[in-house]
Amino acid sequence: MLVGNYNSLLVFFSLIVAILASYTALDMAARVTTTRGRTSRWWLAGGACAMGFGIWSMHFVGMLAFSLPIPLGFDPFITLLSLVIAIASSAFALWIVCQEHLPWARLATSALLMGAGVSGMHYTGMAAMRMAPPIRYEPTLFVLSILIAVLASGTALHLAFHLRQHSSRVRAWRAGAAVIMGFAIVGMHYTGMAAAEFPQGSVCGAAQGSLSTGWLALVIILSTLAVMGIALLTSLMDFRMETRTTLLATSLQEANRELRYLTLHDALTKLPNRTLLEDRLAQAIQVGERERTRFALLLLDLDGFKSINDAYGHQVGDQLLVEITQRLESTVRAHDMVARMGSDEFVVLADIPKAQDAAAIADKLLAALHLPFHVEGHALHVSASIGIALYPENGRQPNDLFTNAGAAVQHAKALGRNTCCFFEWSMNTNAHEQLRLVQDLHQALERQELVLYYQPKVSVPDGAVIGVEALVRWQHPEQGLIPPDRFIPVAESTGLIIPLGNWVLDEACRQMAQWLREGRERWTMAVNLSTLQFSHASLVHAVETTLARHALPPHHLTLEITESTAMRDVTASLRILRQLHHMGVKISIDDFGTGYSSLLYLKRLPADELKIDRGFVRDLAHDADDAAIVSAIVALGRTLNLGIVAEGVETPEQKEFLTRLGCHMLQGYLLGRPVPAHELRA
Ligand code: C2E
Ligand code: MG
Ligand code: MG
Repeated sequence: MLVGNYNSLLVFFSLIVAILASYTALDMAARVTTTRGRTSRWWLAGGACAMGFGIWSMHFVGMLAFSLPIPLGFDPFITLLSLVIAIASSAFALWIVCQEHLPWARLATSALLMGAGVSGMHYTGMAAMRMAPPIRYEPTLFVLSILIAVLASGTALHLAFHLRQHSSRVRAWRAGAAVIMGFAIVGMHYTGMAAAEFPQGSVCGAAQGSLSTGWLALVIILSTLAVMGIALLTSLMDFRMETRTTLLATSLQEANRELRYLTLHDALTKLPNRTLLEDRLAQAIQVGERERTRFALLLLDLDGFKSINDAYGHQVGDQLLVEITQRLESTVRAHDMVARMGSDEFVVLADIPKAQDAAAIADKLLAALHLPFHVEGHALHVSASIGIALYPENGRQPNDLFTNAGAAVQHAKALGRNTCCFFEWSMNTNAHEQLRLVQDLHQALERQELVLYYQPKVSVPDGAVIGVEALVRWQHPEQGLIPPDRFIPVAESTGLIIPLGNWVLDEACRQMAQWLREGRERWTMAVNLSTLQFSHASLVHAVETTLARHALPPHHLTLEITESTAMRDVTASLRILRQLHHMGVKISIDDFGTGYSSLLYLKRLPADELKIDRGFVRDLAHDADDAAIVSAIVALGRTLNLGIVAEGVETPEQKEFLTRLGCHMLQGYLLGRPVPAHELRA
C-alpha cells in the first residue's frame, strides 16, 4: 500500500472553509424563508451555488492537502461533476429547509438523500484522480463515512430549519451550529479518505505535474472566500433592507389605522362621526332588506346648547358634550350606535321590533339628560329634542331617513323642546316648502316684495307713543304675507340677510326721517339686527352712510340685538357696540332673559335699554317665577341705568302689573299691532 500524507495547514484551511460554508448555508436558508416569490427563488439559486461551492471547495482543499509518494492530479471534467453534485445537493437542502413544516419522516428521507449527495460528491471527486489500479475502499470506514454524511446532513437540515428566522439570538446559535456542521463535514471527508487504499504501484491517470498543489489550493480557498463573502454581504444588506421595509410597513400600517380612526370618529367625543354612521346605516338597511327587520334612527338635538357655549365658553361647552356623550352611551343598549353629527346633534341607531320601542328609547335618552351636569363648578341643565324616523316605514334610503328624522326634530322643537316626535309624512312638505322659499327669497329683494310694518312703543304711565319697531314682512306673490320667523332664519343661513338687513335699515331710516319732518320729534325707530348682520364687517359703515343718506340724527335710531347675539363673542360685541354708541345710535338688548348673560359683561355693554322677552310677559299673571324674573330684570335695569321695555303686552292686567313693577315702556297688541306706515297715523 502507498502511504498518504497530509499537509496540516491545508487540512486546517479545509476545516475553516467547511465552517464558513455551513454558516453561509444557514444564512441562505433564512434568506430564502423570509423572502417571497421571485426574490426567494433567486436566493435559493444563489444560495445553492454559494453553499455548494463552499462544501465542494472544502472537499477539494482536503484533497489537495493529501499527497502520495507518486504525482497526483485531477481530471477536470469529473471534478466539475463533483461540483455540480455539491450544488445540486445544496439546492435540495435549501428547498427542504424552506418548507412550512419539517416532520421527522421527511427529515430522515432528506438526510438520506443529502447524505448520498455529499458522499456522491466526495467519491466522484476521488474518482477524478483516475487511479490505476482503482482505489480500494476499506468497507467499515467507507460505510462509516456515508453514515457520518447522512447524520451530518440530518443535523444540518434540522438546525437550519430551526434557525431560519432572523433575530439577534439566532445569530449566535447559527455560528455555533456552523462550527458543529463544519466538523461533521470535515469528519466525513477524512473518514472517506481514511477508507481509501492505494495499492503499491498505483498510477494517477490525471497527473500532469504542471499545476502546483499549493497555488491551486490558494486560488480555490480565495475564490471560495470571495463567493461566500459576497453571498453573506448581499444577504446582510438584503436583511437590513428587509428590516427597514418591514419597519416602514408597520409604521405605515399604524398610521393608516390611526388615520382611519380619525376620519371615522369625532375628535372631541370619540363617537363615530357622520361618515361611519352612514356606513352603518347602509349596512342596517341591507340587513333590513334581507331579513325584514326594522330599526329606528333617532336624531337628538340639544336645546339651547349654543347659549351655554356663548355664556361659559367653548371649554365648558366641549366638556359638557363629553359628559352628555357618556350619559347617552350608558343609556343605549350595547349593540345600538351613538354617533355625533354636528356641534350639538347626536344620532342613535337602534334595532327595534316595534315602533313603540323607539319611543321608549327616546324617553330614556331624555330622562338621562334630565339631571344637571357639573362642569368646572357650574351646574348646567340641558334638554334635547328628538326626531324619530323608522326603517322601512319612513324611508328606505339613508338620505330619506336623515331628512325625515330632521323634520321630526324640527317638529319636536316647535312643540316646546325636551320632547320626542315620530316622523309623519305631513312634516315633509315643510322641508320642500322651505326649499322653495329659499329660491323665492333671492328674487324677493329685486322684486321689492318686502315691506316694513311698524309697531308702536309707548311710555309708562302717560301712554304716549315714543317710537316704533320696524318689523319686516314678505308679501309673497302666491303665499301672501309671510311673517319674519319663517324667512329670517333662512336668510340668515344663506347669507341673504345682509342685503335684506341693509334694505330694512334704509327703508326704516327713510320712514323715520319723513316722520321727523312731519313733527314726530320724540320718536325713535327700532331696527332688528340678526347675528350675522351684527358681526358683519360692513355694519358700522352701513349704519353711518344710511343715516347720512336720509339726514337722520343718530339718536332717532335704535338697533335691537338679541341677548344671545350680544353674548356670542363678548369682546367683538363690545367693540362694535362702542362704535355704534359713539356714533350716537341707541342700543337695545332684545329678548332679554332667554340667554345666559353674565352681569359683568352686561354692565360693560354700552346699551340703552333692555327688552324683556314676551315669554315672561305672557304668563305673568299665573306664574310666580315669571313675575319674580320680570321684577328682577326691572331692578337690574334701574341699577344699570337702562330703559326697560316689556314686549308682548296683550291684556290690561299685564299692562297694569308691568307698570306697577316699574317698566318704562310697553309694546304689544294691546297698545298697537304692527301695521304699515300709512295705517299707523290713524
Ligand atoms: P322681536 O324683535 O322680539 O319682535 C317682536 C315680535 O313680537 C314681533 O313679531 C311682533 O309682531 C310680536 N309681537 C308684538 N306684540 C305682541 C303681542 O302682544 N303678542 C304677541 N304674541 N306677539 C307680539 P314678528 O314681527 O313676527 O317678528 C318676529 C321676530 O323676527 C322679531 O322678534 C325679530 O327678532 C325678527 N325680525 C323682525 N323683523 C326683522 C328685521 O327686519 N330684521 C331682523 N334681523 N329680524 C327681524
Ligand atoms: Mg325686536
Ligand atoms: Mg323681542
